[in-house]
Formats: sequence, structure tokens, C-alpha cells
Amino acid sequence: MEKEEIWQSVLAQIQLMTSPANFATWFQNTKISSLENGRVIISVPNSFVKEWLQQKYTKTILKILKNLMPEVKELSYQIEKSGLKIVERKAVENLPPNQLRFQEFEIDKKTNLNPRYTFSNFVVGSFNELAYAGAMAVVKNPGQVYNPFFVYGGVGLGKTHLLQAIGNEIVKNFPKKKVRYIPCEKFVSDVILSIKNHQIENLKSSYHNFDVLLIDDIQFLAGKEKTQEEFFYIFNTLYEKNKQIVISSDRPPKAIPALTERLRSRFEGGMIADISLPDFETRLAILRAKSEEREVSFSDEILNYIATNIKKNIRELEGALNILVAYYRVNKKIPDFQIAKQLLKNLISPPSKVSSIKKIIKTVAEFYEISEKELISNSRKREYVKPRQVAMYLLREELKCSFPFIGRKFGGKDHTTAIHAYNKIVRDLKNDENLVEEIKEIKEKIFP
Ligand code: ADP
Ligand code: MG
Repeated sequence: MEKEEIWQSVLAQIQLMTSPANFATWFQNTKISSLENGRVIISVPNSFVKEWLQQKYTKTILKILKNLMPEVKELSYQIEKSGLKIVERKAVENLPPNQLRFQEFEIDKKTNLNPRYTFSNFVVGSFNELAYAGAMAVVKNPGQVYNPFFVYGGVGLGKTHLLQAIGNEIVKNFPKKKVRYIPCEKFVSDVILSIKNHQIENLKSSYHNFDVLLIDDIQFLAGKEKTQEEFFYIFNTLYEKNKQIVISSDRPPKAIPALTERLRSRFEGGMIADISLPDFETRLAILRAKSEEREVSFSDEILNYIATNIKKNIRELEGALNILVAYYRVNKKIPDFQIAKQLLKNLISPPSKVSSIKKIIKTVAEFYEISEKELISNSRKREYVKPRQVAMYLLREELKCSFPFIGRKFGGKDHTTAIHAYNKIVRDLKNDENLVEEIKEIKEKIFP
């Protein structure tokens, strides 16, 4: 394993947990400078970064490293002289496209757009087709059809991707048009700063030059009256000149608290499109598209597993895939299903204990073709006793439930009954092949 590859795969995972700005600040120009006998030394550009990483990231980095290489025990940092910095940066820029790069390097200074977000890698399904259709109309005739174009949806569902794709597409089709993407948070801080420095008129007039303004996460304007006022002014000026305004938010305009009435009605005057949650088929399609982009193909079993367990956030779907891709790049082999599950266990949280208890009872009852009520009853009928013992055994073995709890659950029995049931099954498993098979099958149904 190469040090560089290992570090790339660590970075790929850290990138998931931090904001792009944080990631660039703390991890630019870092690398593994030595890796011997389970001791890893990471070189960093200065003492500031060293201290920060030491305090905030050591645990995380160690955990990720151990996942990749169990022999890792110790982590330390070392400051590398500045002369190496340039070399480092070049190395980063020259990475092949399928390796991790610092996003900051790619952002176009004029438009603030990241070229990685395009329509060609935007998967469309029923969950986002309205937003997609609106976007298509906007890029064909900026400023002419839907103005403003307002897109809303939950975290990680593609709002930023869509806004940026609109920007990139317009730049491509109308090279003369001045396009500007800005996260609302940045807009707010620009306004505050320029008010302080008596530059607000300059700031406002700089916005008047844009033909297309894409403003991301507008909910950040909530409650900031002064900034809303300035924004309203910019908005009106652009709007009256038929310049395209595209806005994203995590909720519809009417649900943004403390949004002045006049802004709200402005937003509602254009087109409002929502992005909902992708269904299973679409999640699978997204995973397929993204694996293809990364030139790795994982088994259907693995992709199904991810699509089944991650439902609400496309960023997390992508994150799961990145972890597996990192494993593939480091180990030069595709993880099998068991390894993949292991690698993803931090991302895919196990189902809660309560739902698992219900599941065990339901599955055992179904397997032995009795009702759940009969299973947990007091009845000593032979056809109920064995299933009951199996269920008790599984609650103990799989969920570590206490014996008194198990006793209560099954018709208010004493904990000794639960212990007896558990021990009986443990004993029987040693010489009853059928029972071994039955329990194996039941477990597969409980934990698919
Ligand atoms: P949001 O801004 O809604 O929080 P993002 O636009 O940042 O979400 O999307 C999160 C991640 O998921 C990004 O990496 C993005 O490229 C990806 N993504 C979101 N929607 C899609 C989609 N429809 N097709 C492909 N990738 C998508
Ligand atoms: Mg976003």
C-alpha cells in the first residue's frame, strides 16, 4: 500500500464529515510522511494546523486508519518546511481525475461555480423532475420564463448541484452572460461587512452587473432584516431588468420565518419547485451512475444494501460509495459484501433495539407458523414451546436483552424460565442440525 493512497482514502472519508471550507483549511498540504510499525506521522504545513488536527481530528483519523489497516496504533504530526509546499500543491493538481482533489482548486473565480456540478451527472427521477424541468426552461431562456426560479428541498438532495448546473449550463450556452453563484451565508456576511466599512452602495452596484444570480440557501436570510432590505433592493433591480434569479432553500417561502412580506410575495411570483425524496429505484440509479463515474463497479448486493439503508440524503449515498472506492484504491480489490458492511457501519446505523425486538418476535412467529400472540403467551402447548425458546434465545444472543426482561416479555415469566430456554437452545444447537439450520434461516430474515 502506498502512503499517498492511504492518505487519499483517509481524506475521502474526512471530507464527508466536514464542510468544504474546513476541509481545505485543515487538510491542504497534509500527507503521511512516515508509516512504520503501526506508527503514522502526518506532515502538516504549520504549527497552527498541527495543533488543530491534534485536538480535533486525531481520534477520527486514527479510527479511519485502523479500519483500513488494523496494525495502526499511534499517530503524530510533524511540521514540514514551507519549501515543499509548492511541490505538494502540484502533486494535488496533477492527481488523476478519479482521485480526490480539493474542491477549492476547481472553483471559477469569476462565477464562483464549481464545474463538477452539471446536468450530465444529475440523475432525474420523479422526486426532482419538476425542479429539473424548471431548470431546463431557465437555462434555455434565462430571465424570460420563470423569474425567480425557487427550488426547495431537504439537506443533501441536490439543490446546490441544481443551482450550479444551471449556472454552468448558462455559461456554456451564453458565454457573454455574467453569472454569479453565491451561498446566502456569504451574501449575509458580505452585506454586514460592507455596511461596517461604508461600502454597501459599492456592493449593491456590483450585483447590478449580473445577468444571472444564483443564491443558495436563502433561509439564512431569516430574521436578518437589514440584509433582507439590501437583498430586496438587489432583487428588484435585477428583476426589473429581466435578469434571471434562481433561489434555493430548505423550505418553501411561506415557511421561512421572519421573511418580510414583500420578499415572500416576490419569491412566490415566479416558479416554485420542490425536490422530495428519491425512491429506491432512483437511489440505485444514482449509485450506479456514481460508481460508473468513479470507474468502479460494486456487486448488486452491495448497491442494494446502500440504497435500502440510506434513504434521505444523496450526499450520504455518495459518501457510502466513496468509502468503498477508497477501500478499493488502497487495497486494489473490490470489497465483498461482508467487508462493505463493515466499512459502512458508521454510516448505516443499526436499527433500534425496540424495532429489532419486534422484528425477532414477528419473524419467529411467522417462521413456525403461529401467531405472535401464541408465541408470547403462557400456553405450554408443545407447538408453542420450542418457537418461544428460540425467540428468547435470539433476544439474548442478538440483542443482549436481560433475562428478567425476556421473562416479562413472554407472558410475565420468571427470569429462570428465560435462562432455561436460552441454555436449552444453546445445548440443542450442539447436536441438532435442523435447529442450526432453522436459526440460521430466521436470522437471515431478521437481518437481511
Ligand atoms: P443540497 O444543496 O440540497 O444540500 P447538494 O446539491 O449539495 O445538496 O447534493 C449533495 C450531493 O449529492 C452532491 O455531491 C451532489 O452532486 C449529489 N447529488 C444530489 N442530487 C443529485 C442527483 N439528482 N444526481 C446526482 N447527484 C446528485
Ligand atoms: Mg446546498
